[in-house]
Amino acid sequence: MSKYAEVIVDIPVRKFNKPYDYIIPDNLLGKVDIGTAVIVGFGNRKLRGFVINLKDKTELQPEQIKEVKKLISPSPFFSQKDLKLYRWISKYYCALLIDVLKAAVPTAVFKGKIRKKVVKMVELNIKKTDINKYLVQLKNKAPSQYKVLKYFKEDPSQIVLLNNLIKEVDVYRGSIDALEKKEILKKSEQIKRRIPYKDFDQKLIKDLDPSKEQQRALDIIKKDLFNKKSKTYLLHGVTGSGKTEIYIQLIRKVINKDRSAILLVPEISLTPVMVKRFYSRFGEKIAILHSGLSTGEKYDEWRSIKKGKAKIVIGARSAIFAPVKNLGIIIIDEEHENSYKQNNSPYYHAREVAKKRANLNNIDLILGTATPSLESYHQAVTKEYVYLSLPNRIDNKVMPPVKIIDMKEELKEGNPSIFSRFLQKKLKEALKKNEQAILFLNRRGYSSFVMCRSCGHVIRCDNCDISMTYHKKEDKLICHYCGQSKEVFKNCPNCNSRYIKDFGVGTERIENEMKELLPQARVIRMDMDTTIKKGSHRRILKKLENKEIDILIGTQMVAKGHDYPNISFVGVITADTIMNLPDFRSSERTFQLLTQVAGRTGRGEKDGIVAIQTYNPDHYSVLAAKEHDYQYFYQKEIELRKVLKYPPFTYLINIITLDKDKAKAKSALYDLDRYVKNTKIKMEIIGPSPAPIEKIRNNYRFQLLLKFNKIETRIKALNKIKSEYLTDPKYNVKYNIDVDPISML
Ligand code: ADP
Ligand code: ZN
Ligand code: ZN
Repeated sequence: MSKYAEVIVDIPVRKFNKPYDYIIPDNLLGKVDIGTAVIVGFGNRKLRGFVINLKDKTELQPEQIKEVKKLISPSPFFSQKDLKLYRWISKYYCALLIDVLKAAVPTAVFKGKIRKKVVKMVELNIKKTDINKYLVQLKNKAPSQYKVLKYFKEDPSQIVLLNNLIKEVDVYRGSIDALEKKEILKKSEQIKRRIPYKDFDQKLIKDLDPSKEQQRALDIIKKDLFNKKSKTYLLHGVTGSGKTEIYIQLIRKVINKDRSAILLVPEISLTPVMVKRFYSRFGEKIAILHSGLSTGEKYDEWRSIKKGKAKIVIGARSAIFAPVKNLGIIIIDEEHENSYKQNNSPYYHAREVAKKRANLNNIDLILGTATPSLESYHQAVTKEYVYLSLPNRIDNKVMPPVKIIDMKEELKEGNPSIFSRFLQKKLKEALKKNEQAILFLNRRGYSSFVMCRSCGHVIRCDNCDISMTYHKKEDKLICHYCGQSKEVFKNCPNCNSRYIKDFGVGTERIENEMKELLPQARVIRMDMDTTIKKGSHRRILKKLENKEIDILIGTQMVAKGHDYPNISFVGVITADTIMNLPDFRSSERTFQLLTQVAGRTGRGEKDGIVAIQTYNPDHYSVLAAKEHDYQYFYQKEIELRKVLKYPPFTYLINIITLDKDKAKAKSALYDLDRYVKNTKIKMEIIGPSPAPIEKIRNNYRFQLLLKFNKIETRIKALNKIKSEYLTDPKYNVKYNIDVDPISML
């Protein structure tokens, strides 16, 4: 039995980012393994860490060596093979190994906070059909109890956490106890693994018979599925073309071989509808990992995966690290989504990690999307990926017609409103026909900024270099970066003029103006402000499904994954907000978003129509979205990327220094710039310059963008920066090194 363990200690400092030797005391001999989380002495502190190697000898002198003090959990958190993946991430993304390990293992688990908590659940104890009878009884006598029961009426089969129920309905616990006494509700305790969205039908249903197109794609993938050669497939299919059904059937094939599967979806698509679909096919074989789970729930899901009980992991970005046994396939839905990229260290992209993990396991990776990322499509064009397409919707419905409305013309013709005449007309028609509509806007709040018309002064957040947004309901200015709020100004703080006014539009303003325009319409807003409470996202969608909403107004959130046949009109208030961001991906994002929003209609019996309002009606991303023409978009965009030397033709590193002291952040970056130039490695350097958002949460930010023609050169440069410059930097500031950056702001 090995006597020594190499431990990566939890100090996120580059200087200490190397393994330290520890002696394993007699009582722990044989219990420590690669992947075990331990507590060790470090200086005179006690720290957590992970064992990454075992050995029989150490270079250290007996008096130098310290002991492993304790194990955090009896079984290891990762395997040797996993470690290989983590090391790759650490190298590729220039991240500390400890940061990678902590991203891979749920924090709470690592911290040893893993008590099995008993939770109290509440559910209905009467028949659905009896609810109204009891409601009548309670209405005047017990208004609080009435409120609770009303809540269950919305969704009679739900089982809710007692604490959530109290918060959401805003009653005292007594009211719920009283309803329990009357046997209208019943409580239960749960200790075992909580299946998220347990209120689903327990009945399993059979997989569908694939369409011809689906069958073709399935045949191609299945043919080589277990041939131990890792391949990546790009499954390009419009929304509704049956991609998810393909995922299901591939997963079926994999678990029939007693192997397991990981399916990544954007957090925002992890809706009840989606989970329900998988639950109805695979039952409790699925495990769900998302940020809404409590620590305990996360731990339960994680453990059932680790024990091999759950063979299918469905989750957001970090689920790529799920400790599944005998992995057989990885699938990434909506592979183009930016949320797959983590925006703090380690700055990994789940798609790249998936590729590597698939590679290490000799399995296939499936990338599904309606609007492939430029990088992925390029890989398909150059035959790195196998390209599969599903050009038609399952029901053979055509894509909805898209009308582009030039808002400049609209104004010229005498309509100053934020709603074009066409949009107004379509909304009225939809209302008249009892159909539903979605209005999409990229910005929450009432206005996008507040400006003085006399001197041009814009109200900015004190902590961040960003304009504040007016929120009418709170009658406050709010910073969307740090959340700070300010009272509204009567006079300009700069010139004291009274002409200080909010400009631009946000979702809240659309909501208000819509209520004025169509007072009879039932309008609901769905954005970050209205979905803070747990479950509210779900409730809004439920209302949409039950046709209790006529017009849904929202941000990105409304763009995804919903499949409601009664939506006949989708309006994009302005296509320009993203298009104008100073970021080389802004056109791509505009096209993706417009296409996705457009896909929200025409899904049922009714024909849908889409209207896009814009000041740039001739922009290729708008035109391509109008024609549902990915190729056209790709051709235009790839040309530009080539000319401007952006990915996929170059490999980027974005380095940002951060500090409360502006001069320090700046000097540090200029120093790094000098260092980089001195290496004489071939690259193009953009900057140093203040970052587009110069200050966030009181930290000043300076930016250096490095472009490389070859990935090997980038690796060389990164290694040099890492080992020579960053191990002992002259400046004590924070360096954020973002490899393959997604956002340049
Ligand atoms: P996507 O993931 O590409 O948006 P889905 O797999 O969700 O497409 O399919 C769209 C709709 O078509 C869903 O309602 C799904 O149940 C249905 N569907 C998919 N495949 C089939 C099939 N082979 N036979 C019948 N209906 C199907
Ligand atoms: Zn702020
Ligand atoms: Zn002013």
